[in-house]
Amino acid sequence: MRIQGISGSRGVAVGNVYRYIQEEIVIPDYNVTEDKVEEEIGKFATAMASTLKQLDTIRKKALDEMGPEEAAIFEAHMQIAQDPSLSDGIKSLVESSHMNVVAATAQTIETFANIFLGMEDAYMRERGADIKDIGDRLMRNMLGMNPRGLSHISGEVILVAHDLAPSDTASLDKAVVKGIVTAAGGPTSHAAIMARTLEIPAVMGVGDIESFADGDKAVVLGTDGIVEINPSDADWTEYTNQALAFQEELKRLRESANLEATTIDGHHVELFGNIGKAKDAKHALTMGAQGIGLYRTEFLYMENDELPAEEIQFEEYKKVAQDMKGQPVIIRTMDIGGDKELKCLDLPSEMNPFLGYRAIRISLNRPDIFKVQLRALLRASAFGDIHIMYPMIASVEEVKQANAMLDECKEELAAEGKDFNKDIKVGIMIEVPAAAVISPILAKYVDFFSIGTNDLCQYTLAVDRMNEAIGSLYQPLHPGVLRLIKHVIDASHEQGKFTGMCGELASDPVATMILLGLGLDEFSMTASSIPLIKNILRSVSKTECEEVANKALTMDTAEEITEYAKSVLAEKGLL
Ligand code: PEP
Ligand code: MG
Repeated sequence: MRIQGISGSRGVAVGNVYRYIQEEIVIPDYNVTEDKVEEEIGKFATAMASTLKQLDTIRKKALDEMGPEEAAIFEAHMQIAQDPSLSDGIKSLVESSHMNVVAATAQTIETFANIFLGMEDAYMRERGADIKDIGDRLMRNMLGMNPRGLSHISGEVILVAHDLAPSDTASLDKAVVKGIVTAAGGPTSHAAIMARTLEIPAVMGVGDIESFADGDKAVVLGTDGIVEINPSDADWTEYTNQALAFQEELKRLRESANLEATTIDGHHVELFGNIGKAKDAKHALTMGAQGIGLYRTEFLYMENDELPAEEIQFEEYKKVAQDMKGQPVIIRTMDIGGDKELKCLDLPSEMNPFLGYRAIRISLNRPDIFKVQLRALLRASAFGDIHIMYPMIASVEEVKQANAMLDECKEELAAEGKDFNKDIKVGIMIEVPAAAVISPILAKYVDFFSIGTNDLCQYTLAVDRMNEAIGSLYQPLHPGVLRLIKHVIDASHEQGKFTGMCGELASDPVATMILLGLGLDEFSMTASSIPLIKNILRSVSKTECEEVANKALTMDTAEEITEYAKSVLAEKGLL
């Protein structure tokens, strides 16, 4: 039997079905009397203490086994669990309605989760699932039940579940779980993200798990989003071979992590990592990054109630510079606004936040904040090869103003006798179409460009990058976007400058040959994508990529370009 779902994680896996069905939580049906209210609230405090302890253990395990991105999920869970509005909500239901503490938790969690689950954006809906996961853990602790988890499974299985919460997947063993099928969720669900991190083929959103029985033979065709249950013997043999070939491919990719990103005709490409926190740099290095192409510093500002002091920022930037041992580290000045709100800055709500008071616009308007960051960056530049990058640049004036403030900071630091790199490289993100168009002018004022395709695509095509309803119109390989990318790369090269790319397109294997053919000097992406892209770069020649890029530029639609690029990759056995 063949079931069509949604692709969650690429690759082929075969195995016997293991249905993961959780022991249900039964919410006790009693109210507490006035004299027991305090005791009941005490149960909440005890359960919370156990919850935080468990989450911290999981966080450490995730950090060791899966990397900082996974660990951050549990860090976020710990923060959400400690949010006073959650505990206040639960306590007040016990106090005012005399509900038992489990029922009060269930109700409060439901209210909170529903706010997120009702949102249009898929990412925000997933945060609703996180809140439910925390509630589940709290209630299990209150009831003395075993926490959720997958550590009891043995053998080699295809895991079939309604959905998988972070708590489930944290104990997932890659040697045991060969493939994943979930009834719910899509490509942005936690289960899918985790499957991609662990490189386990996965299909999501198959509807229900009624068609699966424990022990059934199952094939997960992750790339196509298909599951085969009990196929014919001939098919089973064929799929088993495909699964083995996929494992071989993964092995090769891992082995290539430390190899150079050089094409077969000897052209070297900079393959860099994108990070959001200083401590992620080491992980990027293990995955084969030769530099950091985008350090999104806004997390430093978003985490705290206060603006981060110069000393705090300096320590963070210095850490990345030192961890990268002299390799380039491109640090972007804060890109607040748009979808990123700040607790420490009272930003006005706007009709069109992506077109509003954002990024460099805030920095230039608030030298008191911007100069703190620039000073920290300059001071950290004494410890490694830091480059400064300004986000959302649309005009030459903005670059001049930002650089004038940078010069002031340099003068101040020199007067204070502090060390910094006087020739620090300064570049800009190219993510506003006007900047792409005037890139030949902008190139005179900067050392490098980095193309932010996430924003460049949304602004060029007038397609909100967060709006799923128009997701199919979001086409980074649209001929219009491609022409802008070519224009920017050419403009930088004509003036001896370099162009990188740190938007998602840099990690899309379908785009790799085209981008290389257009002359992109540096590709920067989330660490987990580096091996895949490196393998492509090492398997092609610059010359053939130039032909592919030239041909792509003659095509009329994003679909044609995509199909063509895929066919070239497939021919080379790279898809
Ligand atoms: C981009 O716009 O492509 C980019 C890398 O910046 P961000 O995703 O942080 O807006
Ligand atoms: Mg951007």
